[in-house]
Amino acid sequence: MSKKLKGVSASLGISIGKCLVLNREEFIVTKRKVSLDDIPKEILRFEDALINTRREILSLQKNIEEKLGTKHAQIFDAHLLVLEDRVLVEDVITRIKKEKVNVEYAFNQVIKKHIDTFMNMKDEYLRERVFDIKDVAKRVLSRLFKEEMPSLEGLKDKVIIVAHDLSPADTASLHHKNILGFVTDIGGPTSHTAIIARSSGIPAVVGVETATQAVSSGDTLIIDGYAGVVIVNPSEETKRDYLERQREEIKRKRYLAALKKVPSETKDKRKVSIAGNVEFPGEIGNVIEWGAEGIGLYRTEYMFLGRDNFPSEEEQYKTYFSSAKRVHPFPVIIRTLDLGGDKFLTRPDIPPDLHPFLGWRAIRFCLARPDIFKTQLRAILRASRLGNVKIMFPMISGVDEIKKAKEILEETKQELREKGELFDETIELGIMIEVPSAALTSDILAKEVNFFSIGTNDLIQYSLAVDRGNEKVAYLYEPLHPAVLKLINLVVKNAHKNDIWIGMCGEMASSPMFAFLLLGLGLDEFSVSFPMVPRIKRLIRAVDFSRAKEFARYALSLSSASEISKGLEKILKAELKNKFEEIVTAGL
Ligand code: PEP
Ligand code: MG
Repeated sequence: MSKKLKGVSASLGISIGKCLVLNREEFIVTKRKVSLDDIPKEILRFEDALINTRREILSLQKNIEEKLGTKHAQIFDAHLLVLEDRVLVEDVITRIKKEKVNVEYAFNQVIKKHIDTFMNMKDEYLRERVFDIKDVAKRVLSRLFKEEMPSLEGLKDKVIIVAHDLSPADTASLHHKNILGFVTDIGGPTSHTAIIARSSGIPAVVGVETATQAVSSGDTLIIDGYAGVVIVNPSEETKRDYLERQREEIKRKRYLAALKKVPSETKDKRKVSIAGNVEFPGEIGNVIEWGAEGIGLYRTEYMFLGRDNFPSEEEQYKTYFSSAKRVHPFPVIIRTLDLGGDKFLTRPDIPPDLHPFLGWRAIRFCLARPDIFKTQLRAILRASRLGNVKIMFPMISGVDEIKKAKEILEETKQELREKGELFDETIELGIMIEVPSAALTSDILAKEVNFFSIGTNDLIQYSLAVDRGNEKVAYLYEPLHPAVLKLINLVVKNAHKNDIWIGMCGEMASSPMFAFLLLGLGLDEFSVSFPMVPRIKRLIRAVDFSRAKEFARYALSLSSASEISKGLEKILKAELKNKFEEIVTAGL
């Protein structure tokens, strides 16, 4: 039976293929018979899982003890007791041996029995131990399942990935040529998974909520990344329709590729720059191929994720230098580490924050860890010797932060000079404007740097108090909200008053519809995911700057996102006439 699942469009395009379901938040444990010979192996897997879970809990406990004190850390004593419960452990082993079943099943059965016993206890304190048992069970099961989880790197067949969410480390594997697209239960349009999907050019739908429940490995899926829809086991007729749409898509791409060599300027000759966003050096080829004039945002944190050590200065230097060389003579803006939020390290010495987007993130982390920060700055500076590298600090919230970061940058430069290392002495420094306090004080901040880049993914979430990764509040995530437009307008004005240039590298810049308004607000540079480079260029080339400016003034007087959106559609239809569909909405 065919099923249709609705989510949030994360990356354009259509994919058709068999799917592979990855991690589930709640593990669905199935019974599997094991042979007599395999029983010792199952027991060993169980013992390994127990040892590793114990290690994980002990390290968590140590961290909590250092941060919050012994009292809080004692919570984990109860977890450890569950793991050390000999009756429980023996019960699992006996079941494996007697019933000749897989360890996951045996363990799950025993845990269920335990939970029932505790639930029926009169003593409230003992009843509450159920939470500890559930937590420990989940940890042990996740250890057991991971062993069996297919690695994305090792994929042999072309598949669509379905997962509850993809960790930042998993997303690094999405460039694998055998991954046709992906679908996740959670996430919004600017969550890290969605961003990676766009940068790798594979169709994706996120925030489907029930995808991992509704789909089984081996089902045929159609991802409609334009509509944010997933069709499970489609009829032959639906499949034919989508195959036809895929062919049209290929034709459209060919046509867009022809725009590579033409300049990005409006009909009345206002030139803007269109650059690309990248997370991995492997994406740079695509960005340049599609006609971008440089890299407007290099998200370096991806090099730090999914590993248990930090990349050395040399490793970073080599990566940044080869990227700069690849892009030369165009510029590459290397953003310093933006760890935190939904891009976190899974290391015991860096525990996750309770509210990660408001927590120890980006420049805050770097200022607290100058050892890590300086290593990166040295690598970026050394990679700047061709003269086309710029440095950008993320998540600046006030002038003192820039001053501190600049001090560290100056110290690093001095150390390099003393060592006789070459770097670009005139290297430009910029900051991301993605916190409302930075936007509101942009007149002050502009005096400290050479450029601004507006990070709307965060600016919108912080201004409207809407978590960018939460599909339940995605409807409130409105780039055209008057509050957002007023902030953008203020920042552009303050940048230009202080003679610095201003770009936008948030996803808002990637929409041809919004681009008209952003052009009118005075943006000098659009940095977008690579498939959008020719599309933004085509919009810019089809309109007049003077008309965009007039419209921007008018839009700033409107009172809601829906009014602004209607106004924008109306003017673009009038300006572009019969080309509106083709330039603004076709395939979107
Ligand atoms: C942004 O916030 O708009 C941005 C470009 O940074 P990131 O998406 O990496 O947080
Ligand atoms: Mg950001």
